[in-house]
Amino acid sequence: MKPRDLSDHVAYEAGRGIEEVARELGREPSELIKLASNENPHGPSPAATVAIREAASSVSSYPKAAHADLTAAVADRWDVSDKQVWLANGGDGAIDYLHRTALEPDDTILVPTPGFAYYGMSSRFHHGDVRKYSLEREADFEQTADIVLEAYDGDRIVWITSPHNPSGSTMALAEIERIAAETDAETLVVVDEAYGEFADGESALSLIEGRNGFESRDDVAVLRTFSKAYGLAGVRLGYAVVPDEWADAYARVNTPFAASELACRAGLAAIDDEEHVERTVETTLESRQYMRETIDAHVWESEGNFVLVDVGDATAVAEAMQERGVIIRDCSSFGLPGCIRITCGTDDETDRAVETLNAVLADLELDDDTDSEVANT
Ligand SMILES: *Cc1c(COP(=O)(O)O)cnc(C)c1O
Repeated sequence: MKPRDLSDHVAYEAGRGIEEVARELGREPSELIKLASNENPHGPSPAATVAIREAASSVSSYPKAAHADLTAAVADRWDVSDKQVWLANGGDGAIDYLHRTALEPDDTILVPTPGFAYYGMSSRFHHGDVRKYSLEREADFEQTADIVLEAYDGDRIVWITSPHNPSGSTMALAEIERIAAETDAETLVVVDEAYGEFADGESALSLIEGRNGFESRDDVAVLRTFSKAYGLAGVRLGYAVVPDEWADAYARVNTPFAASELACRAGLAAIDDEEHVERTVETTLESRQYMRETIDAHVWESEGNFVLVDVGDATAVAEAMQERGVIIRDCSSFGLPGCIRITCGTDDETDRAVETLNAVLADLELDDDTDSEVANT
């Protein structure tokens, strides 16, 4: 027998791991740095490491109390009710829950392109379809209500990624409000704030809760994760914050005990470790600024913990950098064949990434010059 027809389902391509690349190059993992997956360069919060160790001996039980405690802590953090917080196996798990809650077969979701691949994959798993709006490179990936509304055609869910992966651009809350107001009452606007901690503006939670001068709405949800600023990508922990009216659906759609005991304990420790998040954000802002100032190619302004760089031939640059021990993300798979994305690292990592990239760019340019000379003679 065969699985169902998965030909429409694009396989997810994660950034490459250090061990994998080291093995391939025949080098030690410690000689390489990885700035390909927007992970936290400082690692997890030290408090979370301790919590995971301490929780190890209790993993024979289902995570009932820890799940409830973390839900309450997240609700407290945002000043919403516990029922509005949907913990999940990573932000990706929360994407699934929102799709399970909203999509009937053949409903569509509207997503940005270039953009995060998992929205579309998840919609398809749930028998939904995918439509796209384009963020234009020539317009610096600017995000406006007009762009989304022009592409909108009664889609059940509209995905906004702000800050946007892989460009780092954001959408103003007033624009998001306009999208929610001008789409059908049955259209949910989800604002993916996976990189929210690194951005300047406030969370779209204001639109759900009616804060900061906005009216409260029942058609906006927000997605957050512990993978980026909190450094917990490996435990898989994220959540959605939904309007009160949606709250009861969680119990009907969630995979039982969606977040593991270790994830919940780590999350509880990390959410209280403000120092670690502050340090992470500070390093990120410095690294972002430094890369914009020193890379010998166009670097887009970014509100995330990464920058997008226009390098011409991304695959050649990514390969050459990898040979020199720096793993970055070739954005061809995002539909941006000329661009690479570099995660903000520690000071040392950022220095090495910039030095390596500039050297590679200079070498490739030399090659080009030689090629054209040969061609001319
Ligand atoms: C990283 C990321 C997520 C969530 O990742 P998880 O590790 O599953 O929490 C969601 N959206 C975007 C755009 C991301 O880059």
